[in-house]
Amino acid sequence: PFDVLVVGGGPAGASAAIYAARKGIRTGMIAERFGGQVNDTKGIENLISVKYTEGPQLAANLEEHVKQYNVDIMTGQRAKRLEKKDDFVHIELENGAVVKSKTVILATGARWRELGVPGEKELKTKGVAYCPHCDGPLFEGKHVAVIGGGNSGIEAAIDLAGVVKHVTVMEFLPELKADQILQKRLNSLDNVTVITNAQTKEITGTGKVDGLTYIDRESGEERHIQLDGVFVQIGLVPNTDWLEGAVERNQRGEIIVDKHGATNIPGVFAAGDCTDSAYKQIIISMGSGATAALGAFDYLIRN
Ligand code: FAD
Repeated sequence: PFDVLVVGGGPAGASAAIYAARKGIRTGMIAERFGGQVNDTKGIENLISVKYTEGPQLAANLEEHVKQYNVDIMTGQRAKRLEKKDDFVHIELENGAVVKSKTVILATGARWRELGVPGEKELKTKGVAYCPHCDGPLFEGKHVAVIGGGNSGIEAAIDLAGVVKHVTVMEFLPELKADQILQKRLNSLDNVTVITNAQTKEITGTGKVDGLTYIDRESGEERHIQLDGVFVQIGLVPNTDWLEGAVERNQRGEIIVDKHGATNIPGVFAAGDCTDSAYKQIIISMGSGATAALGAFDYLIRN
């Protein structure tokens, strides 16, 4: 059995594995895909001390760094069940194998909820974006739409309005769902338009985004607007379904952790986008991965 078993090979998992291995304890890692969401990212400009990198490059760097240490890496494997039994945490894999460890760090990340309309997949990173903190500056001086009128959509619109030329907010329902204070701030901006009752039908463009077609749900009419970018802000889904009933999660499905990265199950820690951390970013995931590994080490020396 391992002392620390990390589930997930994104920034949080890589950081947790390195911190654990540096304590000289038996460290394992199970990851479906090394690098996680980073693989789907083009330019990264906010990983402090690295002025610019690209997703696949960062993923390769993460892997190289983890491989400097004595970490038993199992990639291409999906965890499907967690159970605490006789002082060990048992992780059952989809292939039926069971891996045992004294402590586990869950770092299975999250995925952006997708619209599922034509053009979205094809134009991802070619104008279709999900992270305003990351990709906002790429649209300086341009016209973008934000799809989704909840808190994250309106926060994104306010953020983007300071960077881009014009923001069009598209909400499916008859009114925005965001907090009043955010809506008030949004209404005070003169380069934002809000369209409600709008059902996005297609993101258009060849090679890069040139606009969006939507149905006005009131009139049933189809309309098209010209755009340079589309930010989809309809939620972030944590990859934690497989932990149902095993580890405490909040309403959004995020694993609840304390200051040490500990969950409600002794010996089970979590880090990164799969947790209830306030913000989801690479540098934040790396920090929480380090915290969870140190938390797990503390637990091991006390038990
Ligand atoms: P993830 O990166 O999601 O990694 C999760 C890991 O767990 C993966 O290895 C996955 O294969 C594995 N996994 C999942 N389920 C299982 C399972 N059941 N069993 C085994 N393994 C499993 N952040 C920035 O700071 N700057 C940016 O510029 C930036 N741009 C982004 C652009 C895009 C398009 C996207 C999608 C995100 C961007 N982000 C950016 C956010 C950033 O990528 C995430 O915050 C970060 O990757 C989270 O790291 P993580 O390790 O918690 O999770």
